[in-house]
Amino acid sequence: MAIVVQKFGGSSVADPAKIKNVAKAVTREYKNGNQVVVVVSAMGKTTDYLVKLANEIALNPDTRELDMLLSSGEQVSISLLAMAIQESGCPAISMLASQIGIITESIHSKARIVDIKTDKIKKHLDANKIVVAAGFQGITPEGEITTLGRGGSDTSAVALAAALKAERCDIYTDVNAIYTADPRMVPYASRLDKVSYVEMLELARVGAKVLHPRSVETAKQFNVHLRLRSSFNLDDPGTLVVGDDDMEIYRPVTGVAADLKQVRIAILKVPDRPGIAAKVFMKLSENNISVDMIIQSLEEEQFNNIAFTVHESDLNNAISVLEKVRQEINASEIVVDNNIAKISIVGAGMVDRPGIAAGMFDALADAGINIKLISTSEVKISCLVAKEKAELALKSIHKKFELDAKEPHIDEIAN
Ligand code: ADP
Ligand code: ASP
Ligand code: MG
Repeated sequence: MAIVVQKFGGSSVADPAKIKNVAKAVTREYKNGNQVVVVVSAMGKTTDYLVKLANEIALNPDTRELDMLLSSGEQVSISLLAMAIQESGCPAISMLASQIGIITESIHSKARIVDIKTDKIKKHLDANKIVVAAGFQGITPEGEITTLGRGGSDTSAVALAAALKAERCDIYTDVNAIYTADPRMVPYASRLDKVSYVEMLELARVGAKVLHPRSVETAKQFNVHLRLRSSFNLDDPGTLVVGDDDMEIYRPVTGVAADLKQVRIAILKVPDRPGIAAKVFMKLSENNISVDMIIQSLEEEQFNNIAFTVHESDLNNAISVLEKVRQEINASEIVVDNNIAKISIVGAGMVDRPGIAAGMFDALADAGINIKLISTSEVKISCLVAKEKAELALKSIHKKFELDAKEPHIDEIAN
């Protein structure tokens, strides 16, 4: 019997009626003769609400306690879904990550999965039960509860599919497919029937939150048969995420994405000496803060400005780390710019085509949008622009690279 992993995001389990709809999709798979493991996120915007609660108590909450709090959201949704499946006449059991044995490294708030025990899940599957697993959470070898980072339930699902050698992993969400841009921001976004792991990984990394980056990384590593589809349109085949060999051609530009959750930090008047940049970024990395775009510019003779972006959830932590470093290195000031959006284009075929970067800058210039910072790699180009220009920037670039669909897809989106 084949094992199938299905994952349903927060919007798919936002209320009891939607949970019953998910139960239908699950039992349909089960009645087709498959062993089914379902991974779910917390209901609706529960996790956002829990984060807000924590921030009302503490400016920079302890990450262990934050994980205790945030992981509670998924305990609610798994038990409700298991009840809904039982109500529809099929046996089901809900399981927390600690009960399954989803082992992560001992880092809070963005832990990586290091091992998954499959014996307990398999025992339940062999007893003909549907297993409803909590996404987003894990447990350290010491027994501490961790979370995998926002959007991490996708990664729980793909990692479970890899560990169980599942036939496929279907990620159900609130749009019909993966598009060339977020269809909420670009109504003329085009559907992609197939996208490669490499293209999707880059799109996810630069802000296309339709899949969590580590879920795509894991799918690529273990060759998981991964499909993105809609919870509200069960007959739509959605988008298949495939290996490089399955792509006939690489498009120069596969898609565009905006990341509205980055903030820019600048350290001003940093003495121009060897080892200073190493010290700044070492301290950030010791504190588990990932840095994205970096630029160093000459302020005046013997002084530089160092600017870089971090995720907004790391801002308070970064500032407290950097304030100590600033005093040690004798820099003058730390300045934060919240009004930024990172706009990126991604394409595995970009490397062979000159003029792609020029096309992007041209599209931004046509729309009268100023570029604050640029970074490039073989498969992507990113520009920082003012936050309020993000949507215009996406639409303008999307059009420039002829990605616009004939019809808008906005009415396919469930709210
Ligand atoms: P879930 O709660 O199911 O995990 P998410 O909100 O995390 O759902 O991800 C789905 C959302 O991703 C969509 O509603 C859409 O607005 C957004 N999105 C961003 N980029 C894309 C894209 N390229 N294709 C499809 N959806 C996208
Ligand atoms: N509930 C978590 C979040 O909102 C995990 C997820 O949705 O994937 O980030
Ligand atoms: Mg998600």
